[in-house]
Amino acid sequence: MNSAQRLEIFKRLSIAIPNPTTELKHNSTFELLIAVILSAQATDKGVNIATEKLFAAANTPEAILALGIEGLESYIKTIGLYRAKAKNVIATCRMLVEQHQSQVPKTRAALEALPGVGRKTANVILNTAFGEPTIAVDTHLFRLGNRIKLAPGKNVLEVEEKYLKTIPLQYMKDAHHLLILHGRYTCTARRPKCAECCIEDLCEYNAKEYATSTKLPHMKPIMQSQS
Ligand code: SF4
Repeated sequence: MNSAQRLEIFKRLSIAIPNPTTELKHNSTFELLIAVILSAQATDKGVNIATEKLFAAANTPEAILALGIEGLESYIKTIGLYRAKAKNVIATCRMLVEQHQSQVPKTRAALEALPGVGRKTANVILNTAFGEPTIAVDTHLFRLGNRIKLAPGKNVLEVEEKYLKTIPLQYMKDAHHLLILHGRYTCTARRPKCAECCIEDLCEYNAKEYATSTKLPHMKPIMQSQS
């Protein structure tokens, strides 16, 4: 795939998806951070149902700390891995209060030091909350990178690096959400909707070749899925 094709792909995606942003509901950077931590291996829809009640009751680090682990669990028990996530959220809130004046830090290093926050979550916060041109490679971005040949790679870091090197600069900030939403609604995992896809003539998807390439070991080390 050449740079002109890439440019055209992002141009068309940005027309097809005029508001490329997260579907995790939030009213502050803190709420976004908590929602993203809770979204690992869970759907945005499921997280939104839980956080609607949680954030109505507690939407600051101090307020969530005051709930305690059991109190927090009662709001998020419909989400997978909720016990581990509750521990991480409480520990993160404590660090925010004690080390960051109750604010979400703006650097990758400080974000990744928070319990429950890995590279992908840090990338989401840096991009969505602070407007940085980062690429969080979730299951959709990994699949599209390899399937469409936008950023082929055997693991998340390799795919992330290829995206960062090849995405046209003017689309770098929105690329993460454009690709997630395209992957979630059109270029879906099992049955991509090629007949209604706006980039069908530019896509290099080869079903047979893709099925073979995705047998490679991938994603496990730092992958947190976001459906
Ligand atoms: S043509 Fe099909 S495989 Fe290619 S991007 Fe569109 S939906 Fe995905």
